[in-house]
Amino acid sequence: MSSLASSLPHSPLSSSASAVGAAPVRTHVTVAHGDGIGPEIMAATLQILQEAGARLDLETIEIGEKVYARGHSAGIEASAWDSLRRTGVFLKAPITTPQGGGVKSLNVTVRKALGLYANVRPSVAYAPFVATRHPLMNLVIVRENEEDLYAGIEHRQSADVYQCLKLITRPGCERIVRYAFEYARANGRKRVTCFTKDNIMKFTDGLFHRVFDEIGAEYPELEKEHWIVDIGAAKLADTPEAFDVVVMPNLYGDILSDVAAQIAGSVGLAGSSNIGERCAMFEAIHGSAPRRAGQNVANPSGLLRGAIMMLEHLGQAEVAARVHNAWLRTLEEGVHTYDIYREGVTRTKVGTREFALAVVQRLGQQPQHLPPVFPVRSTVPSVCTLKQRPAPAKVLVGVDVFIDEPGISPNELARRLQPLRSGPLDLEMISNRGMRVWPDGLAETSCVDVFRCRFRIPELLADTGGISHDPVTRLLHSISAEGFDWAKTELLYTFDGQPGFTRSQGG
Ligand code: NAD
Repeated sequence: MSSLASSLPHSPLSSSASAVGAAPVRTHVTVAHGDGIGPEIMAATLQILQEAGARLDLETIEIGEKVYARGHSAGIEASAWDSLRRTGVFLKAPITTPQGGGVKSLNVTVRKALGLYANVRPSVAYAPFVATRHPLMNLVIVRENEEDLYAGIEHRQSADVYQCLKLITRPGCERIVRYAFEYARANGRKRVTCFTKDNIMKFTDGLFHRVFDEIGAEYPELEKEHWIVDIGAAKLADTPEAFDVVVMPNLYGDILSDVAAQIAGSVGLAGSSNIGERCAMFEAIHGSAPRRAGQNVANPSGLLRGAIMMLEHLGQAEVAARVHNAWLRTLEEGVHTYDIYREGVTRTKVGTREFALAVVQRLGQQPQHLPPVFPVRSTVPSVCTLKQRPAPAKVLVGVDVFIDEPGISPNELARRLQPLRSGPLDLEMISNRGMRVWPDGLAETSCVDVFRCRFRIPELLADTGGISHDPVTRLLHSISAEGFDWAKTELLYTFDGQPGFTRSQGG
């Protein structure tokens, strides 16, 4: 068998007449072998795909550590983008993200640049062949992939304060929630659950929950439920078999899909697809496990599961099912890598290469105990028609000015700011880390160096059209002239008469 680890641009993965599939269409796929255990698990995966008759032409790109070392801050070069945009399909091994400033996550960059908004992460138990406390577990986490705290918008405001912006958008919510419901419908799933923390983040997570309710109403045949993420996560870890499809914002999905994969048996078993309207990427959910690199011990199953999802996506469902069934048979027969090794269950403890060979030897066989997989072409629509809504009436009613003034007391700050009122803008309140400290603050509230100072116009004026930017600009000039350092501002708007900003805690 030819080694595919060094596959060249456009090298044929298989032109074998034994290829199984409906249409003899070959697809160009971009492949990256990654870092750490990446090259080993990719070689194993490609070997299995070739032997199974996958009709793919590979374009190999380099990403990760070496590319970062050549000075590319996102670990990817222009020529690699050309390949990704040309093929629109990416099979990616994990990479190592260098520590330290100035470096961007390649994974986040690729997902966002290619518009891969839906990250689909199935976690299935294979009891009793893979040890798990949750033998009935079979759930799919659909994670929003482009927004939330992963927008990568972080700032240091002062000596004390660092911030990360959590961005949640209506188009982003509509796309991911619609995808989750369509996925459930296409895959015969019964229930879609939503996790958010909207009791605390009423605007951002509140929007996600609201869109879930709105779009969910269009799928009457599916059960719908919502959990606050903390108790939902506890329940997921305790009784994962109670969940079916679970949709959630980016950060919760990142964390909980690792939890789900691990309690199903091993993070080494889980693959994922990253779906966009024009492109798609397939990978293992785990990282590059550098401590295991080069030892022929890593489990290639996660990447292989990603590759199976890719074949389904490409319409090579028969090949996907052939690989999937051979893989299930391998697990059943107790051929296990170290991460799922268990005395009494494992019959042969193998390395990466031997595991791949064991799967190849079982191609064409069905599992005898676990349910076999039948060819299913992915039919989940990736293009989402967004809801048309009239633009809301947006009225400027004030400004939050964040002032960096270490050591000042809230009362003293208010005393100096009150005379600076600009036109109708008046100091309404001051908060520190979101807690109101003026008026009527408590001496016990501990303060850092940045104070949020809210200037508002009277409500009557808000009803008659609000203000322009001019009074805000004049206010900022006066604040500077008073010797204060304003670190940032947030304008306060109403939308159709509803405030587009939260009140501070305690006020
Ligand atoms: P990791 O997932 O790489 O590994 C954690 C542990 O899980 C390993 O030490 C190993 O014991 C086990 N493990 C993971 N994959 C396995 C496999 N296939 N077979 C057997 N055991 C496996 O997480 P980490 O150590 O936190 O991260 C290492 C690097 O990977 C970091 O640089 C991180 O940024 C990167 N990372 C990359 C991706 C990606 O490319 N998609 C995802 C997550 C982390």
